[in-house]
Amino acid sequence: MSSTPDNCLFCGANVQTELVPPPDWHATDNRLILSCTCEGSCGSMLIDLEGKHSKIKSTVLELLNDVTQEELLFLSRSNSNWVDDVIYEPYMVQRLLEAQRAATIASDRFGFEDADVIGTAGGLDFSNILVMVEAGEGRFTIRVLGVEVEDNVVRSEAFWLNY
Ligand SMILES: [Zn+2]
Repeated sequence: MSSTPDNCLFCGANVQTELVPPPDWHATDNRLILSCTCEGSCGSMLIDLEGKHSKIKSTVLELLNDVTQEELLFLSRSNSNWVDDVIYEPYMVQRLLEAQRAATIASDRFGFEDADVIGTAGGLDFSNILVMVEAGEGRFTIRVLGVEVEDNVVRSEAFWLNY
């Protein structure tokens, strides 16, 4: 079992931790998951410390090793937007980091070089993450679609956005 962190993995503030059984809907092979209550601004979160994903060879802790301060701030702000506790496992963390990076690139390409990529809008659709962006020109959302989303779905969504 990994050691439990003394500080919030997203913001570094003090954190209260407890190993707890996972919710029924989360498969963990009966291992416990970490319940964290951040004393900073992140709120509470559940972390599957030893969770693996077939396509992601890193654990949550390993994924968080190489992130920037902007990416950590994105995770912190996103977590504070969730309505309920969500479980951070490698797939989810990878998707959130990809969304932050894609939204940052998209903001630059739209000409919003001073854009602040805030966080997710709080939805739980990790294939298609809605990212909130603030720029001098105003507030925007950028929807980051997963690579597995089929072309016709993307075209349909673009059609409705323009309707
Ligand atoms: Zn925190």
